[in-house]
Order: sequence, then structure tokens, then C-alpha cells
Amino acid sequence: MSIVFIISAPSGSGKSTLVNRLMRHDPALTFSTSVTTRAARAGEIDGEAYRFVSREQFLEMRDAGELLEWAEVFGNLYGTPRSALELARQNDKDLILDIDVQGAAQLRKTLTEAVTIFILPPSRLVLEQRLRKRSSDSNAVIGRRLCEAAGEAEDYKEYNYVLVNDQLEESFKQLHGILLAERARTRYVQEKIVPILESFKRHATASGATE
Ligand code: ADP
Ligand code: 5GP
Repeated sequence: MSIVFIISAPSGSGKSTLVNRLMRHDPALTFSTSVTTRAARAGEIDGEAYRFVSREQFLEMRDAGELLEWAEVFGNLYGTPRSALELARQNDKDLILDIDVQGAAQLRKTLTEAVTIFILPPSRLVLEQRLRKRSSDSNAVIGRRLCEAAGEAEDYKEYNYVLVNDQLEESFKQLHGILLAERARTRYVQEKIVPILESFKRHATASGATE
């Protein structure tokens, strides 16, 4: 059974850094590549973190019901292809969605079992430093992202887990720990437990027969 992990954070908190690391570390995970009308940043490859599409293409996908959720974020459209979830289920993989607070709110209603994780920076100052260090956005874009961060951060209450990304190593351990704990939930380990219980039953039957 596939578990859906929804991760949101104010832009620059370190979400992509943590998620990329998780993807390299955990072969049972698959990443949902969103479609977006945002222009690719230097080094971003089409089809990896995003599929870059025109506004017309995006609206066509949306109108054809191909998106599980979608939202306008910082003036661009972003959406999760329905196929990402179908593929994860077919391949028996857990799915990671890196989406904003509006997308998470939509999916909380339809994917009620999804596990939601919110990442926060240690402070606004650190967030600004990180956005500038990434040096992939203009001053105007950085300003807009900082302005929206305050409102987004308030949404932490809606999530199952909150992680303050201060020291990267610690944050990564915590994030991976959340995944491992969720996978140990009774409803997900049922398939593994059945053969274990069967082995007890077989033993009881065999020893009963010899007594
Ligand atoms: P997001 O995906 O949340 O927008 P990124 O993962 O792109 O953010 O991170 C923004 C910048 O902050 C990047 O330059 C990244 O290397 C850096 N960064 C991420 N996490 C940490 C951390 N714990 N400590 C210091 N720098 C970090
Ligand atoms: P960025 O432009 O920095 O890559 O992403 C901006 C914001 O859009 C981030 O908060 C990111 O989580 C969000 N985002 C990325 N993909 C999706 C998506 O498919 N749906 C929604 N709702 N938000 C997304």
C-alpha cells in the first residue's frame, strides 16, 4: 500500500534540499513531479523537479481532470498530475508531494490518509539568508517569497508534523524518522504480519500433532 507524504514549507526553508536527499536515501520512495508555468531556474532540468509547461498546456491538463490538485503560487500555476499517484500505487512505492499550503489543503479532503509535514526555517532572518544564498531568484521574487512566508508559516497547525530545519543533518534524520514511523503503522504492516502469524499456527498444529 502506498503512503502519500505531503511536504510544505515557506520558500527557502530547505524543503527541496531535504526531499532530494530523502529520494537518494530511500528506494521505496517516489517523487511526484509537478507541472508548472514557472520558468526553469538555471540548472533545473525539465521532467526532474518539474515539468515546465505553458499556461495553455496547464489549463488544458486541469480542464481534462489530469491534476490531483493545483494552485497559483507567486503568480505561477503549479499542479500535481494524477498519474503520479497512480504510478506510485502500481509500483507499490510511497509518494512524496512537495506542494504549497493551498494544494495540501485540497488533498487533505481527498487523500485523508496522507501524512502531512510542515518545514519551518529557524527564523525569518535565516530564511532570507537562504533565499539569497540560493541566488536563483531576482530581488523582487525573493521579496515576494519573504512577504508570503509569514502567512504560510501560520498554516503549520494544519499539518501532522512540524520540523524546524536548523541543522541539516538533524533535520534529515528527523524527516526520515517520520517516514519510518509512519510505515510501521499497523495498517501498513498487515501484509508482513500475516506470514509471521501463519508460522506460529503451523508450529502449533505440528506440535499438537506430535503430542
Ligand atoms: P526550498 O525548497 O524550501 O525553497 P531549498 O532546498 O532550495 O529551499 O533551500 C534554500 C537554500 O538553503 C539552499 O541554498 C540550500 O542549500 C540551503 N539550505 C537548506 N537547508 C539548510 C540548512 N539546514 N542549513 C543551511 N542551509 C540550508
Ligand atoms: P518553487 O517555485 O520555489 O519551486 O515552488 C514554489 C511553491 O510551489 C513551493 O511552495 C512548492 O511547494 C509549491 N509547489 C510545487 N509544486 C506544486 C504543486 O504541484 N502543487 C501546489 N499546490 N504547489 C506546488
